[in-house]
Amino acid sequence: MEVRTKSVPGKGPGVLSGLDEVTQLLEGTSNSVWSIPEGSVFLPYEPVMIIEGQYRDFSPLETPLLGLLCQASGISTKARVVKEAAKDNPVFHFGSRRMHPSIAPMIGRSAYIGGCAGVAVSKTAKQLGLKPVGTIPHALILILEDSTTATGMFEKIFSDEVNTVALVDTFGDEKFEALENADLIEGLNAVRLDTPSSRRGDMKEIAREVRWELDLHGFSDVDIFISGGLDEESIPALNEVADAYGVGTAISNAPVVDFSLDIVEIEGEPVSKRGKKSGAKQLYLCGNCGERLVRTFGETALKCPSCDERAEPIMEKIIENGDVLKEPQTAKKIRDYSISQPFIAEHRA
Ligand SMILES: [Zn+2]
Repeated sequence: MEVRTKSVPGKGPGVLSGLDEVTQLLEGTSNSVWSIPEGSVFLPYEPVMIIEGQYRDFSPLETPLLGLLCQASGISTKARVVKEAAKDNPVFHFGSRRMHPSIAPMIGRSAYIGGCAGVAVSKTAKQLGLKPVGTIPHALILILEDSTTATGMFEKIFSDEVNTVALVDTFGDEKFEALENADLIEGLNAVRLDTPSSRRGDMKEIAREVRWELDLHGFSDVDIFISGGLDEESIPALNEVADAYGVGTAISNAPVVDFSLDIVEIEGEPVSKRGKKSGAKQLYLCGNCGERLVRTFGETALKCPSCDERAEPIMEKIIENGDVLKEPQTAKKIRDYSISQPFIAEHRA
């Protein structure tokens, strides 16, 4: 059986994730699995996974397998789309409170693999081997009655562990609260603008004004962190003034990747339903020119038709008759690999 999709939300490439749980699902079964590595960028119609085995044994796992891949990959894909929109500015995943807690670790892991620079939920961060990243909540300022008192206390307790970011829109104007915090907090790293949409007007102009005043008063090293309902549509306009983003719902509620799982070969004979190409296939990638090729399954290199260099097979065997062949990689390694790949839809398989 082959896993692939006809389209990716956002109409660009996708980022595969969820392979950790797929491996757990299929470990100890009678199946063998080949997959592109977790964190791989893929295009529509490219095979991402092949499962070989007795269909009778595999069929109960078909639905959970797709559920594990489709949602996680949808989140990783969206995280990459948002990261691309943010260019070099880091994007932090703040979206767990919009989703059921039982899937928060999956969402955070997928967002991180897709390219988020950090996650806010402490349990998720622990599972990923990261330090959780967050900023001061409005609640702390409301309880302590002003922004600089809250920032000062945060600085005192947490400055060894995490950058101090002042939240500057709780009671007063962003510009004046930003200056007060910059004045009073010695190690201030950034100010966070989380202005409610009812007060926003033009977020870019608010941020520009804050930047101008901070620079004018000698605080050009204080960054601007923007959050609140951001996505890949709203972020590009803010890149001129923002240094980092907190993104929530847009990533955690990402549309799923519509992977399908179909029989393509029975006892070595190519066979598939209408609308699917039969036969086991491999994805080859040319290391020289980036050409992507879908060809009959094989585990050795091909000659790239575009540049004559070697095109390497990308799908690798990860499970053999239920035995897991690869040690799980750290989330950081998977993320490094994921974001090292170009995210362009130029080459259609
Ligand atoms: Zn090539």
